Amino acid sequence: MTLKTAMPLTIDSAELRIVRLPLITPFTTSTGTMREKVFPLLTLRSGGLEGYAEGVMDPLPDFLDETIIATIGFLRDAVMPDVIGRSFENPEAINRPMRPWRGHWMSKAMVDMAYWDLWAKSLNLPLSTLLGGTGDAVPVGISLGIDDIATTVEKAIRHHAEGYKRIKLKIMPGHDLELVAAVRAALPDAKISVDANTAYTLADMRVLSALDAFDLEYIEQPLAPDDLHDHAVLQGRLRTPLCMDESIRSAADARKALSNDATRVINIKVGRVGGHLEARRIHDIAAAWDVPVWCGGMLEAGIGRAHNIHLATLPNFRKPGDTSSSSRYFHRDIVLERLETEGGMMRVPEGPGIGVRLDRDHLATVTEEIFDF
Ligand code: MG
Repeated sequence: MTLKTAMPLTIDSAELRIVRLPLITPFTTSTGTMREKVFPLLTLRSGGLEGYAEGVMDPLPDFLDETIIATIGFLRDAVMPDVIGRSFENPEAINRPMRPWRGHWMSKAMVDMAYWDLWAKSLNLPLSTLLGGTGDAVPVGISLGIDDIATTVEKAIRHHAEGYKRIKLKIMPGHDLELVAAVRAALPDAKISVDANTAYTLADMRVLSALDAFDLEYIEQPLAPDDLHDHAVLQGRLRTPLCMDESIRSAADARKALSNDATRVINIKVGRVGGHLEARRIHDIAAAWDVPVWCGGMLEAGIGRAHNIHLATLPNFRKPGDTSSSSRYFHRDIVLERLETEGGMMRVPEGPGIGVRLDRDHLATVTEEIFDF
């Protein structure tokens, strides 16, 4: 592999596609059921190179408050006028003009991530190397959506036998203790976690405390995204570590949560926190607190999934991530490379940048709209 000198990259043009991919099976969490994955796909172009990123916002403000329609306006009116035709020497530089704008972490993440892909390709390096990661594969767990208990137990046993290194169960009030007890009874030695996607409050202390009996890896995001205080109260009453997901949107959020003992594990989703630059800061702050992080997922297609895998090679990603096989979700992905786990490990795609190429024929059939900048 030839090591090239970093040169400023001029962004010649950009394209935003709205893509709609059917899911093989619906995915239910405490906030609702997803039957298809609709997402924006950003391409940044420089010279002959292209960098790609997926947005993790939903069509409606479901997971967090960002939406696809707001992303289109934000990129068109606020970000792209400061990006197109300009040169950026590194990811820090392309983040600079976006910083004054409030919120929109998911939209900012797309620009940051597409730039990192482009930058890595211009240097002929894999993204993982440029981010500071090591190794050619990352450990992977599985996330099971809300379903009846017997079906969930059957799936948990099957995926555990396939080698997945952690079984995560989506829970919500009324669908929690009995489910977790059944899966724990079936898999006494497995690493099991639960994810409530903000469905509880401190009024549910009886149920949340009872989860301590099941030797869980962590309880993910039991309370509201902005409820740092109540998470700290809850952590004070539990043996099981809490793991924040929706609450952490920046390194500042991570610092506050850690210094208040509101979380003892962090789920880093690069698409939620403004991109790789911020994800790495959160990774480093958590490492300084000796708090492990892991790489969550938003049912990404191949571009987003590849970004996640590269990020998960950093050393403090000490727990298995959600970057499981693409074929669990999609009949046909939007990339040519197959992103499939083997024995609970996902190989890091090889080659420069994120290491996957667009399946342009398929992409054309699942694209709803294209915006050129
Ligand atoms: Mg989560």
